[in-house]
Amino acid sequence: MFHTEYKNKFGLPSNILPEFLAVKNDLRKIVRCTINSYELKTVEEVCQKFGLFISAKTYDELFKGVSIQVTKTEINKISSQKLFIYITKNFDLIEQVFNIERVRTKDSAIKTGQLFQYPECCINFEVDPTCNPEHEYIFKNNENMNTKSYIYTKYNKDSFSFYLNNFLLFLNNQVSPFYLISHYPCNYNCEKSKVYAKKLLTIIDSEEPLLGKLMRKYLKLPVVFFDDSHLLESEKDENKGFVAEGEINGNSLYKKDLHSLRKYRDFGWRFNFADRITFEKNKIIFFKRIFGNNFLQIGKQKKQTEFDGLLINFVDE
Ligand SMILES: [Zn+2]
Repeated sequence: MFHTEYKNKFGLPSNILPEFLAVKNDLRKIVRCTINSYELKTVEEVCQKFGLFISAKTYDELFKGVSIQVTKTEINKISSQKLFIYITKNFDLIEQVFNIERVRTKDSAIKTGQLFQYPECCINFEVDPTCNPEHEYIFKNNENMNTKSYIYTKYNKDSFSFYLNNFLLFLNNQVSPFYLISHYPCNYNCEKSKVYAKKLLTIIDSEEPLLGKLMRKYLKLPVVFFDDSHLLESEKDENKGFVAEGEINGNSLYKKDLHSLRKYRDFGWRFNFADRITFEKNKIIFFKRIFGNNFLQIGKQKKQTEFDGLLINFVDE
């Protein structure tokens, strides 16, 4: 089973733990995380105990007056349950970041990124994904703030460093504690992001050794990700992708178990049922193990786009 319910010694919601530890240990000056409104009191108490300031903003406070297209369901979902919180040791930084961030222009996005201390290359990519032609992206930045997540850089390697695997955060709707970088990397080989992630993992190893151990395990699990750009807004949450227990060999996933797959359109059951899943350019092929290394094809599924069903291998480095 997946330890999204991971308990930490601070009693914090586990999804904010990596960001909290980054501030507590002076790796970052300020972070912004998402929590449920009922968790606010606990988070405030813990922050106070460690001399950290916290400020909570509602969805409306942070995004009001911005002419982005957000569906009604999303607004309701976010405003009723979620709060955005800033955590910092420097009280003045909170209003500074908030006032810049809520403006939502290209300039403010750059300044916000700088205040959050994201790598310069990643800030530039976030603001203009075409700034570096080598970083061709697969999942387009979706105009809509809430579904804009899945900038995924073109396969130019067979595998990527597990330090940059931030898919568990996305696939679990930001409830997972298993991530090191919370920004969108300019590409999954970004050296500056790796430097940050390595420093944070060292901190986590000393503060929460079990979390460090679990991260090394979970961040190396195969990820399958779907291009959801052709889906309706209401379908996206359920259909982002999943993390599997198993091994990748070439373009095939030899699967033992699945995590995070809630429903994948009408063929999700095949992912659950298959022992081997092969991802080709235009289709996904499902196999059942007969004995040893002998597999029987049990079905195939046409992809909506080339990137609709990508097998991503995050490995040690
Ligand atoms: Zn970068």
